[in-house]
Amino acid sequence: MIEGGCFCGAVRYAIEPGEYLSVNCHCSMCRRIHAAPFVTWLVVPADKFAYLAQAPQAFRSSSNGVRYHCAECGGQIACINGAHPDIVDVAVGSLDRPGEFPPTRDVFRDDRLSWT
Ligand SMILES: [Zn+2]
Ligand SMILES: [Zn+2]
Repeated sequence: MIEGGCFCGAVRYAIEPGEYLSVNCHCSMCRRIHAAPFVTWLVVPADKFAYLAQAPQAFRSSSNGVRYHCAECGGQIACINGAHPDIVDVAVGSLDRPGEFPPTRDVFRDDRLSWT
């Protein structure tokens, strides 16, 4: 299994092994919520993804978007867009082995910081 979790370990998850798209998102919402220049997401079918222990806290960041983070350490874990509820975007930075999922495309490039 592909596994990951938050900084403190309260939230853990598993993803069925497979080939998944890895995407850099440069949108301003991702930037603010993660306090990072951009966020790399692994695009996973919801039925391949499961939380293992404590479920994360949900935060609605837009009319369609719900972000999931650890209530203890605040680590960002996932995002689900209500327009595509069958897909979970998993923060690559929360994976145990993020190096195995290099991003292959960039989205919201118009919002990209020029120095990235
Ligand atoms: Zn945590
Ligand atoms: Zn974004």
